[in-house]
Amino acid sequence: MKAVKKVFRKSRILKSPAFGCLKDVPTINVTRGCLHRCAYCYARTFPETPSYGVELYENLPAKLQEELKGLRRRGRMPAVVTFSTASDLFQPHPEVLKITYSCLKILLEEGVGVSFLTKGRLSKEFWELFSYYSESVRARFGLVSFSLTYHRLFEPRTANPYLRLRQMERASLLGLKPAVRIDPVIPGITDRPEEVFKLLRQVKTAGVEEVSVSYLVLRPGVIRQLQKELPPKTFLSIMKAYQGMPWSRVITSATTKLARRDWREKGYRIFRQIAEELGLKIHICGCKNPDFPFENCSPWDLSSRKRKEWRPGILFETLPGQKKEEAGHKPSSVPLSGWRSFL
Ligand code: SF4
Repeated sequence: MKAVKKVFRKSRILKSPAFGCLKDVPTINVTRGCLHRCAYCYARTFPETPSYGVELYENLPAKLQEELKGLRRRGRMPAVVTFSTASDLFQPHPEVLKITYSCLKILLEEGVGVSFLTKGRLSKEFWELFSYYSESVRARFGLVSFSLTYHRLFEPRTANPYLRLRQMERASLLGLKPAVRIDPVIPGITDRPEEVFKLLRQVKTAGVEEVSVSYLVLRPGVIRQLQKELPPKTFLSIMKAYQGMPWSRVITSATTKLARRDWREKGYRIFRQIAEELGLKIHICGCKNPDFPFENCSPWDLSSRKRKEWRPGILFETLPGQKKEEAGHKPSSVPLSGWRSFL
């Protein structure tokens, strides 16, 4: 069976979710399914998600260009677009990365801001692209723990946590304002104070200023997945935090279970206290904690979502060794090597 099956995308690409901080921000998923296959991933449980490998929308760049052209004509160009609500844009496959690269480049060249959430590895072509458009890119990294046991059990196909840390440093140096999404916190496993301190201290040292946190939210399919993929002792210890909790509506699903409120309150208190001591801004994810006061973790200040009122910053082309302000008002041009080096 092939890891990547190319398919033709017929439906509209730029759709806006109708919830939380992504409300009205168009999102793009480059694939259906995700090669990272994290044990807790809810997107794996969707009926349309392939059980093996991913479906890659090979016509995505052409379709994106076409949609943007139409939106521009109607004066409805989006200010920002976000990647990766149900798949990672930096999956370890050259064909996936090629499509991701093309889509990012199209958006950035059109002056559209781009944010993404990843647990993957960014290759040099992407860093090069982002260095040209740093004002228009917001990088968010998913990271829950530096424990290599956790990594092996829960997200073994993602980039190693220490590589992600290096990537945060690089993103910070480029001015991409990296933030960290600590989701899902696994009750009893990644919420011990010493673990939380290590995580927050390391990300702060890497130049991160902001984190958002949420405990694991269960759905029936996620419970089955965890039961199948984790050692029985680990699985049972996680379930203790959900004992007695009813099925409830979280985001778009009516069959979800939140961790017990007392458990989350205690855990979030630990996160908040340590984050504040370290000078990190922290949000408790409002979408996944509907019983807590809503906190927005959007990387953009979109208090006014009208494009004409949003300023992505002026982009300049700089030469090696030249400062941006010396470069004049020449718009950024296409980065050098492009996708070919993925192959
Ligand atoms: S990286 Fe994200 S989308 Fe991909 S499998 Fe893991 S949780 Fe799911």
